[in-house]
Amino acid sequence: MENEKKKIMTTNQGSPVDNDQASITTQKPTMTLLSDTHTIEKLAHFDRERIPERVVHAKGSGAFGYFEVTHDVTQYTCADFLSTIGKKTEMLARFSTVGGEKGSADTARDPRGFALKFYTNEGNYDMVGNNTPTFFIRDGIKFPDFIHTQKRNPLTNLKDADAFWDFLSLTPESIHQVTILFSDRGTPDGYRHMHGFSSHTYMWYNANGEHVWFKWHFKTDQGIKNLTDAQATELGGTDPDYATRDLHNSIAKGDYPSWSAYVQIMTPEQADNFRFDAFDITKVWPQKEYPLIPVGKFVLNRNPDDFFAQIEQAAFTPGNFVPGIASSPDKMLQIRLFSYPDTHRHRLGTNFHQIPVNAPKCPMHNYQRDGSMNMGIENPAPNYYPNSFDGAQPDAKFTPPSIDVQGMAARHEYILGDIDFIQAGDLYGRVLSDYDKTNLINNIVGHIKNAQPRIQYRQTALFYKAHPEYGTRIANGLGIDIERVKQLASLSQEERIKATAN
Ligand code: NDP
Repeated sequence: MENEKKKIMTTNQGSPVDNDQASITTQKPTMTLLSDTHTIEKLAHFDRERIPERVVHAKGSGAFGYFEVTHDVTQYTCADFLSTIGKKTEMLARFSTVGGEKGSADTARDPRGFALKFYTNEGNYDMVGNNTPTFFIRDGIKFPDFIHTQKRNPLTNLKDADAFWDFLSLTPESIHQVTILFSDRGTPDGYRHMHGFSSHTYMWYNANGEHVWFKWHFKTDQGIKNLTDAQATELGGTDPDYATRDLHNSIAKGDYPSWSAYVQIMTPEQADNFRFDAFDITKVWPQKEYPLIPVGKFVLNRNPDDFFAQIEQAAFTPGNFVPGIASSPDKMLQIRLFSYPDTHRHRLGTNFHQIPVNAPKCPMHNYQRDGSMNMGIENPAPNYYPNSFDGAQPDAKFTPPSIDVQGMAARHEYILGDIDFIQAGDLYGRVLSDYDKTNLINNIVGHIKNAQPRIQYRQTALFYKAHPEYGTRIANGLGIDIERVKQLASLSQEERIKATAN
């Protein structure tokens, strides 16, 4: 108490510190003594200040706020935090780039992570999405390879245009996401002016146990605003923390950013009959057929008090569901359900859920015990189940609906087909304005021109398959032979790989 009033500096154990400017040494010559436990503690803690940075999404920023329900969705989900119009739930948002290190530029061309944590009465619900409605790959087994190509070449430690485009051109299902990424939406003007998407399909189920499939859409109320490639590149040098500063300053001055939340919904029957695979994350659900249904909005109105404790240590897990929400047979999601908590255990320790920013704000009881950095939030006994000592019990009323799964367990591959090029072509041909198209072409040409010609040909053939004008303009921008591009586009992917082997 006495220390609190006068704000006396203390050791980590709370004992007063007499001097923090001079270490204890002998007088002449000056040798530091091990008996100076304060100095040793100070340096030893400093030596351990950094924890492993996230292997992806290392550079990011975030803030707290609330989610408010504006529309009744109880016919679809029994999630308590969505149960009543006007109901507010405290939440945390973290936005990030993906491929760069913790010190990299906010304005790099990259998808932006869009991670939300809702502190509900029924446990924490995490929505771990991006600012893109799709993704590059649709089976998580490819994820480590994909990320390696976005990071540094292990030999040169440089970003590598060959690896970047080699992988993408050998992974044609990426064409839709590549088109979004290289449009100006791949360089949003800060974090406030971009949409967020679950990208994955999830399950909602209601109080009767009836389920639908759904995708989240969070539309920025600030309006979409993007940087051109030139602006993003310049800011990367002059103000690499541009988006971090923009978010912080906007909240600090009371200009609270908000997003309107919608879902798209498919019944199980609609999913069975959909012309695309409803669970393929490289595809969207056309909005005219599956319109956006309003749900609520979220507002960010509080900057973190301690960036490291609350944002760096924030751990989002796509498998953090609450009753009324569950996973889906989306292969990419299934692997993320494992990988996210696994990386948090590595980065923050097995008790990462006890760190205040990650801890549920409702009661929590189970029989997991001990482990590194255990804060002792559970009575130690009993530590087994079943028990006859009034321990916590599971309750079958929280069982999510069963889904019918049949067939052989095997490495079922997606078969690449013309269907995989349709939506990228639609985006280019129907959605993008002339201005957007010109920027898209220039953005791609400016990047792929650094890759080997055979890789340029292989990838440009994919752009051509998506939309002939798209491929032709890229070929013209690169100054490569359009007839060869057309010929490569007419081949199967295996033939195309052989024809561009060297
Ligand atoms: P619609 O014609 O109904 O709407 C077009 C969608 O494209 C809008 O959501 C629009 O967002 C978005 N958009 C505009 N410019 C870009 C861009 N540069 N990058 C990404 N998205 C952009 O769309 P459909 O549902 O029929 O889909 C057509 C194409 O639109 C898809 O192939 C997909 O590439 C893209 N799209 C579709 C989404 C979906 O969920 N169906 C979501 C986002 C994109 P806004 O309203 O903010 O302008």
